Amino acid sequence: MELIFGTHNQNKVIEINSLLPSKYQVKSLNELGYDAEIDETGTTLEENALIKVRTIYKTYKKNSFADDSGLEVAAMDGAPGVYSARYAGFEKNAQKNMDKLLGELEGSKNRKAQFRTVIALIFNGKEILFEGIVKGKIALQPAGTEGFGYDPIFVPENNTRTFAQMNLSEKNRISHRSRAFEKLIEFLKS
Ligand code: IMP
Repeated sequence: MELIFGTHNQNKVIEINSLLPSKYQVKSLNELGYDAEIDETGTTLEENALIKVRTIYKTYKKNSFADDSGLEVAAMDGAPGVYSARYAGFEKNAQKNMDKLLGELEGSKNRKAQFRTVIALIFNGKEILFEGIVKGKIALQPAGTEGFGYDPIFVPENNTRTFAQMNLSEKNRISHRSRAFEKLIEFLKS
């Protein structure tokens, strides 16, 4: 069965294809020749994931899913959350985003944070949401060179290293994205 993944990120597609039973073939937007960016105008991760998957479903009328992730900082009422990518501006610069966040938290004792992923699936016409969370805290300063985005300042629970100090397979074992994908895969296998 063909499933469309509303992403242009081929790495995400390779990863999920390797985890799914062979009866499912996941296709990315690139493979379908869908070049347009879908406007993420929602105010929550759930809304954005649904906007993306509904747009794709309307176009192709095939079972589809889309994901949206963000970093939620407790002392900032869950910000930057859905705005994580463009927190410090529309150029989506990871260094500027981290600098702004560290500035915001300066002097704050509460450094609790979590990464959260929401996947929206439209399967046989029905909408289903899956969530993955990794709890942790914001480090006092960046450390590590692996990964992307806020990885250098996020220390997952029960760890002393940031995500950027872990290799990809270590991060994947505990990440918000993997946890949400595990739930999607469980559903598709059942
Ligand atoms: P996306 O929905 O996967 O594109 O994530 C949106 C934004 O959240 C990214 O541009 C990053 O700023 C942040 N983010 C999401 N997941 C991660 C992660 O695993 N590490 C670091 N930053 C992340």
